[in-house]
Amino acid sequence: MSDSIIRVAVQKSGRLSDDSLKLFKECGIKFESGSSKLRSVSSNFPIEFLFLRDDDIPGYVEDGVADIGVIGLNVLMENEKQVSIIKELGFSKCRLSLAIPRNETYKDLSHFEGKNIATSYPNLTNKFLLSKGVSAQTHEISGSVEIAPSIGLADAICDIVSTGGTLLSNGLKEVAEVFNSQAVMISNTKLSSDKKNTIDKLLFRIDSVQKAQNAKYVVLNVQEQNIEKVKSLLPGMKSPSVVPLAEEGWYSMHSVISENDFWDIIESLRGAGAQGILVLPIEKMIN
Ligand code: ATP
Ligand code: MG
Repeated sequence: MSDSIIRVAVQKSGRLSDDSLKLFKECGIKFESGSSKLRSVSSNFPIEFLFLRDDDIPGYVEDGVADIGVIGLNVLMENEKQVSIIKELGFSKCRLSLAIPRNETYKDLSHFEGKNIATSYPNLTNKFLLSKGVSAQTHEISGSVEIAPSIGLADAICDIVSTGGTLLSNGLKEVAEVFNSQAVMISNTKLSSDKKNTIDKLLFRIDSVQKAQNAKYVVLNVQEQNIEKVKSLLPGMKSPSVVPLAEEGWYSMHSVISENDFWDIIESLRGAGAQGILVLPIEKMIN
């Protein structure tokens, strides 16, 4: 194995898997990822994939079995392994929250004083309660946490929530947020410079993909006298392109806008006289 080949640990199947694989594919990295596969070498980038249970990923990266890995920040912070976070990936967003039976009234965190809380995240939960001056007992269980109050195992739970649908269907309500999570890329702390080089190349590609995800390509038509006004609304990567149309006095302007500003800018553009506005996705963006 050449020194510059990196090993990346990704979740084999679960809520991180699809988006993790999609990210590497969007970076132009080709590899096989069938459900029975446990490892796979890319045919066009110096990278080998290991497909693992997500809980094992931080430990493997800490030990150097894998050089980098994709993991939920919640799992990483719960276990506190010695690894570096090298990139926030923006997917698998969820939160760790405290929830109680729906029919109970809730005022503030003092509600949890002396209570029994079932969770798969005892460290994060205890740290949070301690920081708020609440003393409660956590009871660690590894799955189906939502069922704990209804079977008398606990008074409340602290669990991962995204929409809140699972809580609701188990007669619970979310009352306090403990931790905000998303997928992150982690790396071993003692990598060779050859491997670091490969990781830099990978991070450069990820940056281009992420920038493109937040940006849209805008094409619009405008009369000559409105060009300046429209230009002031379109920052672009440098400045907008302005191309004359066949019809005298009309121009086509092309630029890039941020997804976040999208609706505000579109409204302002219309107000400034822009017509026939097209908004297109961008695949990659390199500054
Ligand atoms: P494994 O079998 O690999 O151990 P798992 O059952 O422990 O998987 P998943 O349910 O696949 O874990 O969740 C993996 C990660 O995805 C979680 O640690 C969290 O970061 C994130 N996650 C969990 N639930 C959601 C959700 N509802 N929406 C978005 N992300 C989530
Ligand atoms: Mg797991």
